[in-house]
Amino acid sequence: MIRITAVSETSSFSEDEEKAGKIHSAILAWGSKNIRKFPWRNTDDPYRVIVAEIMLHRTKAEQVERIYEDFLKKYRSMHDIYKTPLDELMGDISSLGLSWRGRLMHEMARYIVEECDSQIPSSKEGLLKLPGVGPYIASALMCFIYEKPEPVLDTNTVRVIGRLHGIRISDSSRRSKKFESIMRSYLKYGCPRDFSLSLIDLAALVCTSSESPHCEMCPVGEWCCRCRKMEGGGIT
Ligand code: SF4
Repeated sequence: MIRITAVSETSSFSEDEEKAGKIHSAILAWGSKNIRKFPWRNTDDPYRVIVAEIMLHRTKAEQVERIYEDFLKKYRSMHDIYKTPLDELMGDISSLGLSWRGRLMHEMARYIVEECDSQIPSSKEGLLKLPGVGPYIASALMCFIYEKPEPVLDTNTVRVIGRLHGIRISDSSRRSKKFESIMRSYLKYGCPRDFSLSLIDLAALVCTSSESPHCEMCPVGEWCCRCRKMEGGGIT
């Protein structure tokens, strides 16, 4: 069993469990009304989701949305990416910046066509063998395509969890066991895909990177360490 990091050092195991369940429900309920609609969220097609995840890496969703559908009309499969000259592919995604992303996509397509018989792997282990796929993208794909309870921890979701639990965050937090364990304590209450998308959007729209997030609109404010500290007159 996983013990989530407590707001109070004196809270009991069962209190922590109960709180995790309440936070999970509150974030899901908020997401059911506020989740953003992007085309890659309407599908569980592995190809469409993996293309979106590569495009979304360090890039705003709105930027990706501008080219996503046109890209998929031209490139209908990994095989289409594979057979296209690299310069042409890089030109088609140049508006996203990060030119290495085109090389990565091309190399991934080559690997999938040549080594995987054109099938995108359906296990986390298989996904991690793809060029350019690290733990974050592999977890996101398992969660968004296959509804597996894999923690989707990026800079933004870690920020919400850190503030909520009063844990100082650093560059390595998204790879830390502590954050993974807290995320898993939520995911065991079900709906991993909807919960993770809701958390991503809560980070984008409410618990923003600003020093003044919109706590007054937040569905988890009553359990939030940072919010309590601010009400008490201090924030570290
Ligand atoms: S109450 Fe404020 S700081 Fe806490 S999770 Fe919500 S928006 Fe973030």
